[in-house]
Amino acid sequence: MLFYSTKTRSITASLEDAVFRSLPADNGLYMPEFIPKLSDQFMATIQDRSFNEIAVEVGHALLGDDISRDDVEKIVDNSFSFEAPVVEVGPDTFVLELFHGSSMAFKDFGARFMASLMSHFLAKSQKEIKILVATSGDTGGAVAQGFYNVPGISVTILYPSGKVSDIQEKQLTTLGKNITALEVDGTFDDCQRLVKEAFLDADLTAKFNLASANSINISRLIPQSFYYFSAFAQTKHLGKPVVFSVPSGNFGNLSAGVLAYQMGLPVQRFLAVTNRNNVVPRYLSSSLYEPFPSIETISNAMDVGSPSNFVRLTRFFEDDWEQVRSMVSGYYFDDDQTRKGMREVYDRTGYVMCPHTAVAYNGLQEYRKESEEDFTGVLLATAHPAKFLDLVENTLESTVPIPERLENLLSMEKKAISLNARFEDFKAYLLG
Ligand SMILES: *Cc1c(COP(=O)(O)O)cnc(C)c1O
Repeated sequence: MLFYSTKTRSITASLEDAVFRSLPADNGLYMPEFIPKLSDQFMATIQDRSFNEIAVEVGHALLGDDISRDDVEKIVDNSFSFEAPVVEVGPDTFVLELFHGSSMAFKDFGARFMASLMSHFLAKSQKEIKILVATSGDTGGAVAQGFYNVPGISVTILYPSGKVSDIQEKQLTTLGKNITALEVDGTFDDCQRLVKEAFLDADLTAKFNLASANSINISRLIPQSFYYFSAFAQTKHLGKPVVFSVPSGNFGNLSAGVLAYQMGLPVQRFLAVTNRNNVVPRYLSSSLYEPFPSIETISNAMDVGSPSNFVRLTRFFEDDWEQVRSMVSGYYFDDDQTRKGMREVYDRTGYVMCPHTAVAYNGLQEYRKESEEDFTGVLLATAHPAKFLDLVENTLESTVPIPERLENLLSMEKKAISLNARFEDFKAYLLG
């Protein structure tokens, strides 16, 4: 499979290059040159297969030219030692829980798979790779956990001091070994600038094989398609068309759903649901794409004013607004509505949702009011509620049990290197 740049059709890369480069030189996004279809036989028996069996089948269809089936199986087994169960929270309403991985957010699927795929390629080349990544919170945790102990790869994570939650900070700073956390006296934008400058610096690029692990890497998109298939498999016996509600920020998750759909997954509709950062819902209703500076909300992992995967999402529909709208409906909700959604589900069923998940719940409820059809609604739960403990407990006026994994983390010792936001100092540290 070759991957082409959304900006220049003739710029293509192999899977290996697309994975290590992350971005084509023209700053477009990599897209698969063609989208393989899964066999009817597979779709007819999907309900009898485990998550990893489904992942191997879908992964092999996409990567089979570059990686043998046995190796795809190894990469999948190495990546996913956790499940993605669906849980019923109301009539025809299911939560797809994507938070059972090590950082307890859906980004674990992408980060683990990227780490396994990179290490598959490195095993053949003996190269040593240094990954640099800036994080505003969740990505860093998933990347740190995903690459922990992976041979041949070291990871340096830059995070803004005082601007990530306690749990998020502990996820970055307690692992050690091949994971180093740099606590930057500055903002997330400073962290991102330092990383960008490093990739352009001749001394650094001469000394290290630098790679990026950011969210537009194609190897993070691919594994996110697997759980859409798995959700379908788990609800297939209900015999109704499926509507997926996706709480969205950079729109990688939704793009992966569309990829699954184009590979042959029967989907009735996708709901693109956001907080007040509603660029995409507005695009869906007006056809105008007007990014704006992000607004702070309680579902902060979705506070994105200029979604990096928007180009990919529309490219899957040949950049045709009518085609996008034929499959995707947009909704957005403010913080009060989000809290109301969290309370409504909790009061009715005792089920606790994180704020991002509640945004998707609200979207599904809204769509159900407008729709005349009978369908199975699946909403994606992108993070464990305990990652947002204070907010969730305040909203529900109740205490929420903390999973042991997070509890243990809080008592571990933070190890981070403090750094100012000047590039020269960052560079000196790396060369150090
Ligand atoms: C990253 C994130 C999102 C947004 O996902 P995108 O793929 O960027 O749209 C939603 N919820 C949580 C908890 C996240 O960490």
